[in-house]
Amino acid sequence: MALENDRNLRDLIRKAALLNAVSHDGKAQAGAMVGKILGEKAELRSRVKELSVAINAVVNEVNSLSLAEQKAIVEANWPETQKKEKAEEKKLHPLPNADKYSTIVTRFSPNPDCVLHLGSARAILLSHEYARIYNGKFILRFEDTDPKIKRPSLKFYDNIRQDLKWLGCKVDEEYIQSDRLPIYYEYTEKLIEGGNAYVCECPPEEFRKKTIAKQPCPCRVLSAAENLERWHRMLTGDYTEGQAVVRVRTDLENPNPAVRDWPALRIIDTKKYPHPRVGSKYIVWPLYNLAAGLDDHLMGMTHIIRGKEHYTNMVRQKYMYDYLGWTYPEAIHYGRLKITGAFLSKSKIIQGVKEGLYTGYDDPRLGTFAALRKRGITPEAIKKMIIDVGIKSNDVTLSWENLFAYNRKILDTTSDRYFFVPQPVELKVLQVPKSFKAKLPLHPEEPQRGFREYTVNPEGEDKAVSFWISKKDTEALEPEKMVRLMELFNVKVEKKLDNSVTAKFASESYEDVRKIKVQLIQWIPKGTEFQSQIVMPDASVTQGFAEADCKKLKPDVIIQFERFGFVRIDEVSEKIIAYYAHK
Ligand SMILES: [Zn+2]
Repeated sequence: MALENDRNLRDLIRKAALLNAVSHDGKAQAGAMVGKILGEKAELRSRVKELSVAINAVVNEVNSLSLAEQKAIVEANWPETQKKEKAEEKKLHPLPNADKYSTIVTRFSPNPDCVLHLGSARAILLSHEYARIYNGKFILRFEDTDPKIKRPSLKFYDNIRQDLKWLGCKVDEEYIQSDRLPIYYEYTEKLIEGGNAYVCECPPEEFRKKTIAKQPCPCRVLSAAENLERWHRMLTGDYTEGQAVVRVRTDLENPNPAVRDWPALRIIDTKKYPHPRVGSKYIVWPLYNLAAGLDDHLMGMTHIIRGKEHYTNMVRQKYMYDYLGWTYPEAIHYGRLKITGAFLSKSKIIQGVKEGLYTGYDDPRLGTFAALRKRGITPEAIKKMIIDVGIKSNDVTLSWENLFAYNRKILDTTSDRYFFVPQPVELKVLQVPKSFKAKLPLHPEEPQRGFREYTVNPEGEDKAVSFWISKKDTEALEPEKMVRLMELFNVKVEKKLDNSVTAKFASESYEDVRKIKVQLIQWIPKGTEFQSQIVMPDASVTQGFAEADCKKLKPDVIIQFERFGFVRIDEVSEKIIAYYAHK
């Protein structure tokens, strides 16, 4: 018997192809199946060529179905194969020395000079997650002590709070460094009194030459009393910008010149560069290591989780901790997480928004959380990805596609399905014998979620019904070719013009055309369409029609436009505005 007529074999191949397809994003791989079938039907070893032909035919047919349709068939026929494997939840490694502390305290400490972007996700989510795992405390600390170069802006404090909330990170305590200058001054004075810090008046270039040569500058050898006097003159405004800087003493022999006698506080002309929160109240401002170093101890930090580029900062700060008799927190330095294709340069984002190059901080081209949120990337997907990567000291490179895969997995089960026809072209179907009612499930695997229902009624002598279909779908059409309007009926093309296609009703059942692997396309009855604009990831806009039921959608909901992609609804008025997430 010719293999193509062997019903049993056909069924076997079909099952294998469907199972293969649902585990390969809707595309069965013919090559992988030959071995599988031969494993079960050893007698076909002498007919491999014939078998391949039979497999290819079935694979083509299966691959013409949408993933949702494939899943529905598999679920209906072989539900036992789809037992959801218990998702292996990836667990974070335990924190070092966690049992030494009664309460684990972690922090995220951004500079509010920009909105947050994907580059911060690791620091935020890991710090927060560990605080939760150990029933500890997660602190948000705004590090806003540079009113001149990395100037904070009031709106960003709130944006950052919102971003954390969106990411699902509950903040137990919040601090703002610009509120804490008296505290930094108090400890600076202690350090100077103890001879562990000094006020350096040397021009930076001269100081640099000295440190490279491992030699003290003239200020280093002054008495504590003389330095205290200089310190008070700093505070009262005797120095202008650049004339004096407080340095914390270190070992001049330290192998890293950048560690030697690091700068701790400097003068900023706040008449010229007022701080957005405290204006011109202070002119002496702490630098990163002094403020962050003191705060980590004063706020009871037990574990600092941050990128390995901070390793040298730990070395610097440990000198200060020794002088103050403190113990440095447990520091965990993870490797860089690179996301290829993500645009994450803070300064370029700020500049681009200012110049109108981007529509705002949520422009879909940016990697900001605001943009991801707008596009329908879920915080759960970001969290899952970050936790899967965990804390590794080696660098990790991920791509947008990795993030989309996490997101797709979530949205696939949560999103309702609708039809959207980009660049609509009219399809006129003639000789439709009766009224048809299409019952389209909101979700192919969960009929209990409900249906969208559309009735089409033939009109006129030629019993015509007009639809909108996408221009792209018409490209594959030609006279005599069959095509199936999803969940409705099959039509045969008669005539194709630039902006319209005429076809004739063929039959209703999908079974009739399954064998000839017709394309299944989405459609919208003409006259029921709802104008829609989809903002794409490159900020271009795709115009088209959504089905009438989309009028009921609420902003913020994420849906799947079948055969188009997942989108987040942004606005529903006389038209829909949505943002494209991914396929
Ligand atoms: Zn000096």
